[in-house]
Amino acid sequence: MEKLSTKTFKNEFITTFDGDESGNFPPRQTPGVLYSKAIPTPVKNPELLAWSDELAEELQIGQPNEKDINIIGGNVLNPSMYPYAACYAGHQFGNWAGQLGDGRAITLGEWENSNKAIYELQLKGAGPTPYSRRGDGRAVLRSSVREYLMSEAMFHLGIPTTRALALVTTGDQVMRDLFYDGNAAYEKGAIVLRTAPSFLRFGNFEMLAARQEIPQLEKLTSWTIERFFPHLTGANKTLAWFEEVVDKTASLMVEWIRVGFVHGVMNTDNMSILGLTIDYGPFSFLDQYDLEFTPNTTDLPGRRYAYGRQPSIGYWNLGCLASAIAPLFEQPEQLSAALENYKTIYFSKYHAMMADKLGLDEFKAADQELIETVEKTLNLLKSDMTIFYQLLITLPAEATTEDLISIHFSPSFYELPNKVNQQELYQTINAYQKIISENQISPEASQELMRKSNPRFILRNYLLLQAIQELEKGEQTLFIKLQEALKTPYSTAHDEFFKLRPEWANDQPGSSTLSCSS
Ligand code: AMP
Ligand code: MG
Repeated sequence: MEKLSTKTFKNEFITTFDGDESGNFPPRQTPGVLYSKAIPTPVKNPELLAWSDELAEELQIGQPNEKDINIIGGNVLNPSMYPYAACYAGHQFGNWAGQLGDGRAITLGEWENSNKAIYELQLKGAGPTPYSRRGDGRAVLRSSVREYLMSEAMFHLGIPTTRALALVTTGDQVMRDLFYDGNAAYEKGAIVLRTAPSFLRFGNFEMLAARQEIPQLEKLTSWTIERFFPHLTGANKTLAWFEEVVDKTASLMVEWIRVGFVHGVMNTDNMSILGLTIDYGPFSFLDQYDLEFTPNTTDLPGRRYAYGRQPSIGYWNLGCLASAIAPLFEQPEQLSAALENYKTIYFSKYHAMMADKLGLDEFKAADQELIETVEKTLNLLKSDMTIFYQLLITLPAEATTEDLISIHFSPSFYELPNKVNQQELYQTINAYQKIISENQISPEASQELMRKSNPRFILRNYLLLQAIQELEKGEQTLFIKLQEALKTPYSTAHDEFFKLRPEWANDQPGSSTLSCSS
């Protein structure tokens, strides 16, 4: 097993593209280049808080020794590393924001394992880069624990995501104004070592288009296709590539909807070109089902990034990507057609997913009404999404009256439903029972399908908040428990967490409301 400190890293991105090699820190615009050299700023005392053994095994990376931990802390570099910050732009909350770039992420290099799989290794929180603008390039323990645990939780749910290999505390203090209300305070600093085949975003392409650097745009596009979509060849490969990005983005949105994940900041600089969940900030799982729920306090006025809007935002963001790469097309209308196809692709995947979630043998046109009804009823009752679907799996055939149905689902209620909503639930479940009775698969097979599609353990924000509060006091019990629980989200193994969000967490900052401050 090779170690971080002994491996010979690859650096294909920086050897392929032009960069600003000065290594200077001052924030600036960097026209003409795709990255800037950015050396991590040393920290006081890096200590390893978490290490993912499974991911390490996949990468074939040895347990970290002291030198490796110093690499994760940004104090030491392996001589084959060439650390850099990528230059990208983006649309934030629907508006063009111009150049953004990796303001607190530094890629160390590309790690290749014996199967020739390549992983970009990136430090998040390792100090300023030319793209830090007014930020300090640092990350706090709170946000680093959230990213570390949640990216691993998403992976184990089977959802495409960047991953986290290690988490260190830095021994430094970082000043943060949690709610941008003038109450800044010191928090513990931390760094996540995260991995992905690539951290390229829609915004990398938008940057080059905005600067009208078309040869560079063309080069980045061909490189991306060759390296990450090698099955695409021939004269129409750029269009085929965009079609695949559309497909992957639609799939990702369906997956988020399936498990009740709300990203919170779906700006185009946070949209992975590989269709991964990327940049974990003020995210949340739904506790009570609510299509309008956004965990991000900055998003509250418009709720642009609310749970139920994510699929249409995916489409909007793909529109930005299409505009960016349009100069590469002689007939840009081909791109428009591919973009418009998003809706068909999304709904076909969404319907198939919902059929699995409900335990139907297949999706039939007539099931659409049921799916809409279930969604509407859940939204009306504001039931706990995860608990509701678990109870649906064990719905007894005898539960045929309004009362019995209400009693069966009562563990998922945050509030007792009024008479009208109770009737609504009764009618929905009745319609469901009728459709499920026509299934061509056995009830056991149907339940099995539901068990695979409906998580029983989700990493709720209040659990993250509790784990973080404990860690801040030096206590790791819940943090360790959650690391275990998130590995088997579809099992009953961790039923101590199978319960409603407790009342104390209702309006708790860090639980139901979060900011981008990290
Ligand atoms: P995010 O909302 O985390 O996706 O960040 C949006 C932009 O702000 C990206 O360009 C980040 O690199 C930058 N950014 C966020 N936090 C910081 C920070 N503490 N220091 C420097 N740049 C930051
Ligand atoms: Mg980001």
